[in-house]
Amino acid sequence: MRNMGLQRLTLVEPLEFPSGVAVGRAASALDVLEGAEVVSDLKQAIAGCSLVIGTSARSRSIPWPMLTPEQSAEKVVTESQQAEVALVFGREDAGLNNEELQQCHFHVQIPADDDYSSLNLAAAVMVLSYEIRKAALKLADQSDRKEDEYWDQAKATGDQVEHFYDHLERVMVAINFHDPGNPRQLMQRMRRLFGRIRIDVMELNILRGILTNIELNIRKDTD
Ligand code: SAH
Repeated sequence: MRNMGLQRLTLVEPLEFPSGVAVGRAASALDVLEGAEVVSDLKQAIAGCSLVIGTSARSRSIPWPMLTPEQSAEKVVTESQQAEVALVFGREDAGLNNEELQQCHFHVQIPADDDYSSLNLAAAVMVLSYEIRKAALKLADQSDRKEDEYWDQAKATGDQVEHFYDHLERVMVAINFHDPGNPRQLMQRMRRLFGRIRIDVMELNILRGILTNIELNIRKDTD
């Protein structure tokens, strides 16, 4: 990642940190390893991010918005000018689980051979980092920026959106729309819907306001 100009590494629950083996392999990129942030779960790692792209060698339970490596690199490069973005890689042996993949707005898959599509983690990191590098060099080359790269509001961050999901779920339970005992895939589908929209802070505040008013009206009715 350092070769391709990427600096910020966040490790989720590493087996060993600091690790002598990792220090040895880092060679001259020790600064990345020394500066790595260590957290205990993925939610924490992406709390400040408004674009999260997960990586996977195969498609999962319900289809998710997919990007090619080139598309993901372009998104990472444009969005990282205004907000924090994350590219999430999985465990060498087991990859990312469904719950982790569902915390991502998009998934990216390197189109490897169908019969052997799973790359080693380091190789996958290099392929996707190189795409980001190429996209960054291309953007630096273009002096005039496109109008649609601007937005009047900041995109909502991971923790803002998580609070919204909690609130939405609470209200859906209160109006008897959602049965937590039989959740089906409701919250998963809500996450996919809002992930696709990439909601901004103003839009999120409007929705939170609507939910709060619903709660107030329920209370008034029951009083
Ligand atoms: N058996 C695991 C393999 C994990 S490979 C699985 O099927 O999920 C380790 C990591 O490398 C993955 O979690 C992902 O981050 C990355 N990776 C491997 N192959 C990939 C591919 N074809 N496209 C995107 N990421 C890939």
